[in-house]
Amino acid sequence: MELRKDPITRSWVITGDDVSESTPATEACRFCPASSLPLQVIATLPGLDGGPWSARAVVHPQPLYHIEGDPSRRGDGLYDRMGSVGAHEVLLENPRHDGHLWNASDGEVEQFLRLVALRIQDLKRDPRFKYVSIFKNHGQSAGEEFDHPTSELTATTFVPRRVLYELRAGRDYFGNKERCVFCDILAQEERQGLRILEIRGDYAAFCPYAPRVPYETWILPRSHEASFERTGASRVGNLSDLAALLRRTLQRIRTITGSFHLVLHTSPNSQHQSGSLGYWKTLDDDYHWHIEILPVLEAKAKSYTFKEVYYSPLTSETAVKRLREAKV
Ligand SMILES: [Zn+2]
Ligand SMILES: [Zn+2]
Ligand SMILES: [Zn+2]
Repeated sequence: MELRKDPITRSWVITGDDVSESTPATEACRFCPASSLPLQVIATLPGLDGGPWSARAVVHPQPLYHIEGDPSRRGDGLYDRMGSVGAHEVLLENPRHDGHLWNASDGEVEQFLRLVALRIQDLKRDPRFKYVSIFKNHGQSAGEEFDHPTSELTATTFVPRRVLYELRAGRDYFGNKERCVFCDILAQEERQGLRILEIRGDYAAFCPYAPRVPYETWILPRSHEASFERTGASRVGNLSDLAALLRRTLQRIRTITGSFHLVLHTSPNSQHQSGSLGYWKTLDDDYHWHIEILPVLEAKAKSYTFKEVYYSPLTSETAVKRLREAKV
């Protein structure tokens, strides 16, 4: 595997001829506490109520990125390439095979969120990494990899394209108005009340004004904070409202579809000394962490056009009404 940069859009892609053999289907789940299959455990949070553990991070069994080595970025004529150096971890959300984020206790979801914060904090100490991504693909049509309740983490030597757009847009907006665009969006949404799904303590869930897919939902802290891991690791007890809101939002979305993508967007690694990326002084003021949930509606086959221009056959105002009515 190697990373190549598209010289036109300036986005990195990971590519290589996949020669890995498909792993034979095994009866037993490798992530359940009773499994005898070897795992490279990176971090474990202690169990609740006598459980073996509550959440843990392990090395992905078929990692796309490898932790050792130097990315050795190099040119190839006008092209840029680098080695796929990074981290690729599986985050086990719960020791129970059926302990999903929408049916686990708030305490269990909170432990998982705490693990996420600790892993991001730890990987950001490595100056080679520019960004740590957390994502979850749930359901067959969303590209789910494991039956066990899991999310994934990647630490990369580049900032993913969508985050880069957000960072640049946040900086430009701040440059003009000296305000955070996410704070302004949330203030307007709370004032208008048209697309707010639920507010719980310092957290809000809402359907964005211009959704990419039907029922797209974001969760944000209502107080400004650029870095999720700062919220998650320092303010003790602060994650319980977020855990409850995440659980309830996923319950609502699951009344519409069983498949979704979830992604956490937090600030990039400011330890990385990069002149070219130009980490700016206002990053802490102009970026605002959030969770994006993108439901996958199976009936809606995608034509190519919809990958170039998003098409959502349902407005967020209608979507939020249906999600609000869902029984949780
Ligand atoms: Zn399992
Ligand atoms: Zn903000
Ligand atoms: Zn985002």
